Amino acid sequence: MTGGTGAEGVLVVVATPIGNLDDLSPRAARTLAEADLVVCEDTRRTRKLLSACGMTAPPLLSANDHTEAGRIGAVLERLRRGETVAVVSDAGVPGISDPGERLVRAAVGEGFDVTVVPGPSAALSGLVVSGLPTGRFFFEGFLPRRGAGREERLAALADEEHTIVCYEAPHRLARTLADLAAALGGDRRVALCRELTKLYEETWRGTLAEAVRRVAEVAPRGEYVVVIAGAPKSWIVDDDHLTTAVSRLVAEGSTTRDAVAEVAAAYDVSKRRVYDLATRGRDANRG
Ligand code: SAM
Repeated sequence: MTGGTGAEGVLVVVATPIGNLDDLSPRAARTLAEADLVVCEDTRRTRKLLSACGMTAPPLLSANDHTEAGRIGAVLERLRRGETVAVVSDAGVPGISDPGERLVRAAVGEGFDVTVVPGPSAALSGLVVSGLPTGRFFFEGFLPRRGAGREERLAALADEEHTIVCYEAPHRLARTLADLAAALGGDRRVALCRELTKLYEETWRGTLAEAVRRVAEVAPRGEYVVVIAGAPKSWIVDDDHLTTAVSRLVAEGSTTRDAVAEVAAAYDVSKRRVYDLATRGRDANRG
């Protein structure tokens, strides 16, 4: 694939190991070996990965959080020449709490093909070993480090009903667990997934209050994914409750349509359900 062919270029998002080199897929290795250019966060780290896999590095271009936007022009130029450009991050899936998203958006915006070589992801790996519900989940990534942004996210997480997946650095873990316990309640279940796929892989499970005590006793080391149970459903809204709420609004002068919309929004249920209940009640009263 070396050298532009004149055909349309393609941007390939390539996942790399989060700790265990054997997790680099054969297709990922082949894609990196054959790419005309590999955009990476840290050229030294990517060169190390490639040489550990017995590959000589293709041309590398670094793009980290600070420089990604500035690299877009150069990458688009390579794609216009019909080249294949691979994007990797230091570990895991590019674009997930890592650079990559802006390059993808730019390539999509210019109409280039964007494809993926999927692979290791710390978030999904932590989720599946957590023992918490996996059917639906909310990816928070890194919480803002401080200030109103952090408070806002903690308040939002308190109401999140799906399993929550966070990343955190070891030296901030104690503070983050304490803040999560304060905002979400100490009895929420949590899994601390550490050094996944590596020699010292370990998943500790307990409540947030216990996790706070644990990290006070055993200093966190290595990389962590924090997986937290969603908020218990605070109420299950029954039909009578919805019907009464609509009737009250209509008695106060709302149209049925407005009352249905207001009640559906207030209780986070579908308008169709509220409308059916409201019209059934009205028809029964008429009959
Ligand atoms: N894009 C990456 C992915 O898809 O996995 C995540 C990059 S983010 C900058 C790095 C964070 O992921 C770390 O701070 C840690 O929270 C988590 N992480 C990465 N590797 C991990 C591992 N082997 N075990 C546990 N957590 C890990």
